[in-house]
Amino acid sequence: MLAMNYRGPYRVRADYKPDPEIEHPGDAIVRVLRSCICGSDLHLYHGMVPDTRVGHTFGHEFVGEVVDVGRDVQTLKAGDRVLVPFNLFCGSCFFCQRELFGNCHNTNPEATAVGAIYGYSHTAGGYDGGQAEYVRVPMADVGPLPIPDDLHLDDAVLLTDAVPTGYQAAEMGDIQEGDTVVIFGAGPVGIFAAKSAWLMGAGRVIVVDEVEYRLEFVKRYAQCEVVNFREVNDMAEHIKKMTDWMGADVTIDCVGGDAAGSIAQTLTGRLMKMQAGASTVLHWAINCVRKGGNVSIVGVYGPTFNMVPMGNVLNKGLTIRANQASVKRHLPRLIEHIREGRLNPKEIITHRVPLEEVADAYHIFSSKLDNCIKTVLIPPSAREVQAVNATALH
Ligand SMILES: [Zn+2]
Ligand SMILES: [Zn+2]
Repeated sequence: MLAMNYRGPYRVRADYKPDPEIEHPGDAIVRVLRSCICGSDLHLYHGMVPDTRVGHTFGHEFVGEVVDVGRDVQTLKAGDRVLVPFNLFCGSCFFCQRELFGNCHNTNPEATAVGAIYGYSHTAGGYDGGQAEYVRVPMADVGPLPIPDDLHLDDAVLLTDAVPTGYQAAEMGDIQEGDTVVIFGAGPVGIFAAKSAWLMGAGRVIVVDEVEYRLEFVKRYAQCEVVNFREVNDMAEHIKKMTDWMGADVTIDCVGGDAAGSIAQTLTGRLMKMQAGASTVLHWAINCVRKGGNVSIVGVYGPTFNMVPMGNVLNKGLTIRANQASVKRHLPRLIEHIREGRLNPKEIITHRVPLEEVADAYHIFSSKLDNCIKTVLIPPSAREVQAVNATALH
């Protein structure tokens, strides 16, 4: 089959590799119909994630059609269309019982902290991802959700990560009626965090980024205020000025260790690798929130971090929450929001690219060219579906 193939930092290509097979009676094989490139795939692409092996196929955001199931699979059969949450989870461990699906104890037993994620290096379990024609889906009765007939595939694929991650980011901020919410990052997760903040009763939503076309987009799409941090000297002071010197009630970090913005942070974090990425946005999130406020983190950080202003966290009495999204927990409510017209995820898709052109797609997304916000890869075997949907859309 054709699949995205990692060759080393900044080098990926479309290549042929053997089709995945049923390896366990609980597996399903899914023919991919849509697969996204995620901002966090860029951490892999840039060589920032340990144990990313040559030959690995990325892609933790995909939907497809079941073509084969192992003998133990009860709830799926060939022909079913499924959306597959980005995290693999067992459904029965201590964490899964508490619906902390992103923290499953069984699917990545070698790791102490991170759970299992499709196509996210051997650090996250070594499972091949969905930027391919076919993908093996373990524990097929647990993770995948059959796609309702009235849900567009383009909406479904965004429900595998970007929408629920943005939604959970807002949820972890514990937003109260009328709260001012500042969101760092105008990528897809930040965009959906902004939308979700309104759904949870925010009175004011401000999104911070440096990429002008993304700020333009989120301003229109999520009806929020925007700040370009390149035009601001001191972020904390700027946000305080905007909020009667109180600071925001809630700040949300949708950027993580890939942040730009401070030369010192970039030097120690991204170039000298003294810490796992830059902590610029974490500083901003802590320093821009009011005393007693909530900081929510969904941006991806490496495990080691040493330059965080913990003193401010203590003195301001902050509550910090962070997690990988428990995708499946949010799906019923998010599908409801889409049906009722309150959320329209597919509008953020700017690029539809044949899987064969995956190298160009990564380059364009990584370099933020061509006003790219979200790229969907279409495998050759799914072109027919693409044609049908294209007709339906336009
Ligand atoms: Zn993702
Ligand atoms: Zn589990």
